[in-house]
Amino acid sequence: MVIERTLSIVKPDGVQKNLIGEVYRRFEQAGLRIVAARMMHLTQAQAEGFYAVHRERPFYRDLVRYMTSGPVIVQVLEGENAIEKHREVMGATDPKKAARGTIRADLAASIEENVCHGSDAPDTARNEIAYFFSQSDLCPRTR
Ligand code: GDP
Repeated sequence: MVIERTLSIVKPDGVQKNLIGEVYRRFEQAGLRIVAARMMHLTQAQAEGFYAVHRERPFYRDLVRYMTSGPVIVQVLEGENAIEKHREVMGATDPKKAARGTIRADLAASIEENVCHGSDAPDTARNEIAYFFSQSDLCPRTR
């Protein structure tokens, strides 16, 4: 099994609903370790840049507005198969389609306000981690 790192965000609706601890509990229960974390309020430019891949999609403007509507918590998760495991714990983008027991099925309000973000592949994980964290922000778990 490969130890991976992935970028995770508790989005503005998750922070507003005081779900940070609940989301972290689910990550930790799944064996994912938090190795960096920061609360921040994304600027328009940060949100646009982060979601640049979606710039042609009809929901892009709404997505940027939503992601800048309040503070978020960004974190780096580490663990065996972390990218896929994190996506499993989050569930499908649309909470109506997400498997029971996942964060989005249990806690998300809509396909847009879906509580969390997680990188979807090794190259995006690398780029997304670097988008928010420098190498010295990452704290290897020495115990
Ligand atoms: P994710 O990887 O599961 O987060 O999904 P995507 O990368 O496809 O989409 C990024 C984010 O855009 C989602 O998490 C939602 O917050 C939002 N989003 C995706 N699809 C839609 C949509 O059809 N309508 C709206 N309003 N937002 C969407």
